[in-house]
Amino acid sequence: MEKKIYFDHSATTPVDKEVLEEMLPYFTEKFGNANSMHMFGQEGAYAVDTARRKIASLLGVAVNEIYFTSGGTEGDNWALKGSAEAFKDRGNKIIISSIEHAAMISTAKQLEKEGFEVVYLPVTDKGLVKEEYLEKVIDNKTILVSVMLANNEIGTIQPIKNLAKIAHEHGALFHTDAVQAMGSIPVNIKDLDVDMLTFSAHKFYGPKGIGVLYIRNGVKPEKLIAGGHQERTMRGGTTNVPSVIGMAKALEIAIRDMDKNYQYVKSLRDEFVRLVESKIPYIVYNGDREKRLPQNANFSFEFIEGESILLRLDLAGIACSSGSACSSGSLEPSHVLLATGLPIEKAHGSIRFSFGKHNTMDEVIYAADKLTEIVSVLRQMSPLFKEIKGETKNV
Ligand code: PLP
Repeated sequence: MEKKIYFDHSATTPVDKEVLEEMLPYFTEKFGNANSMHMFGQEGAYAVDTARRKIASLLGVAVNEIYFTSGGTEGDNWALKGSAEAFKDRGNKIIISSIEHAAMISTAKQLEKEGFEVVYLPVTDKGLVKEEYLEKVIDNKTILVSVMLANNEIGTIQPIKNLAKIAHEHGALFHTDAVQAMGSIPVNIKDLDVDMLTFSAHKFYGPKGIGVLYIRNGVKPEKLIAGGHQERTMRGGTTNVPSVIGMAKALEIAIRDMDKNYQYVKSLRDEFVRLVESKIPYIVYNGDREKRLPQNANFSFEFIEGESILLRLDLAGIACSSGSACSSGSLEPSHVLLATGLPIEKAHGSIRFSFGKHNTMDEVIYAADKLTEIVSVLRQMSPLFKEIKGETKNV
């Protein structure tokens, strides 16, 4: 039987059956536009309202602090552009970390073209943003600080609460991209004391193309998408009723099963890391060993290209990723790994494995064996590796 193993849960996750079942009626018999006055519309509006209440209550925030978006990219764009536009009278400085997702980095680059000064915070070799890095660059002209809760490539979890405190001491707003963290680790928005927080349902077994931007009451970024009166006039566009319902259900399940899934997924990851480190020489385990998402393992394999490993793993039925899914297709080395100080050649040889609740220990063992085999074959073909081993180039 041909094996198919999915180790790319940080790219996306399969929709839970329970989630799909709740969504299905809203595609067909309950298809009304949630903004229509008639009974078809009101049925949709009621379901959206219930979903919003459920999400707010699961996250311990107010119902009117939840804004539905099309996902993480939109949430990040809105937080950044919306704050820049709304608070430009205060100053023109924006601070983000140098290891943000492309959704933040590209948006920041656009703002730079418009005349905003963007400061990119450095990280330690483990990918951590230290409080003192922020202290050094923040001033009272800073509009917004944005640092992701957990990184999508190396899984490093940041000290968000402390960073938000520093931002607030200087009168700046604080946003966090919690796309990778939500559903995987506990996220207590009130305790983190952030002003805005982005998440996306497809990372926690919900549907794609739906997410939330949490905006603290009293904080008013400019709208990103102008249109109808949806989302209390802050975000135009017909509400994606089935997806909103699916997201609420997926979040409920993720939070209900968090302890169990955290322990299980972490045990798979830990065993994979143990096997790989014991079997394969000349590797770097990227990221922090402790302050790390349970699902993430990221390795650099010296002397060979990540893409070659990825393709051979794919042929062996194992799906994983080199860098983030959004940057695959480009042969640029990961900006995250470069920011941690990893040299370009090692950054090129990096692979992310991200585990999920449906994976098994048998898959982990099989994949570790296949990976060992593939790395060894590729290294046999690598002139660099032969040099290191003291063999001549034409052996
Ligand atoms: N932010 C992070 C950290 C991500 O990992 C991703 C997706 O991989 C996004 C933002 C973009 O989210 P979406 O795919 O919902 O647009």
